[in-house]
Amino acid sequence: MLDFYRFKHFQKYNTLLHAVTTKSTLYPYTFSLALHTGEDEKSIITNRQTLATHLKSHNPLHFVVAQQTHSSHVKVISAKKTQGWTSLTDAIEDCDALVTNVPHVVLNILTADCVPILLFDPVQRVVAAVHAGWKGTQENIVQKTVEKMQVTFGVNTKDILVGIAPSIGGCCYEVGEDVAEHFFDYPESFTKKGEKYMLDLPTINKMQLLQSSIQEKHIEMSNMCTACEVARFFSYRKEHRCSGRFMSMITLD
Ligand SMILES: [Zn+2]
Repeated sequence: MLDFYRFKHFQKYNTLLHAVTTKSTLYPYTFSLALHTGEDEKSIITNRQTLATHLKSHNPLHFVVAQQTHSSHVKVISAKKTQGWTSLTDAIEDCDALVTNVPHVVLNILTADCVPILLFDPVQRVVAAVHAGWKGTQENIVQKTVEKMQVTFGVNTKDILVGIAPSIGGCCYEVGEDVAEHFFDYPESFTKKGEKYMLDLPTINKMQLLQSSIQEKHIEMSNMCTACEVARFFSYRKEHRCSGRFMSMITLD
């Protein structure tokens, strides 16, 4: 059986499906779901099929995966079509945030330390999934995603619910000044440690969401650090540049 991490506020909606995968020793590569990191493709696709059956939708689902490039490019998915799920060749190119209002289109983000963020507007019925590493965070990718939801679908920011999934926390994410300097406007987001800085990317993303007029009570933080919880989640840092990735996903069902 697979164990998923889930957000409490999303679970109140029975027409919304979401999940954050965790490691499992019962499956190849401890249930990594990445096609782009050199593992045997067939095993990863089998893992993805296993995942699909565990989501327990009553409808056929169309999974969409992006070729994440640490950009701040946001793409609206309007086709009810599977992309990037069984092959890298048809993944959404050069993109780190996906938005859709099409039911049964599952938006997927792959991470191992970077910040996965899921968004849901229950009023206009729009979902989004974001990959925010330090570069995407520096380029305000989560704010650009909220803007895209507003402009494309007339979403009111007051209605948006957000889940910030497990990612490396300020406890474990040590960076140099070259990275930290981009976030000096967020003094609550780092502590100094000698020449280095301990940077809290989930908190910076939360602050950016608040700046975009998302209600604080609508932001659910997992408060789980992938490096501290490496038995459960892949951590690129803790596992010395591991190739495993877990998936955060959301769909209107
Ligand atoms: Zn930690």
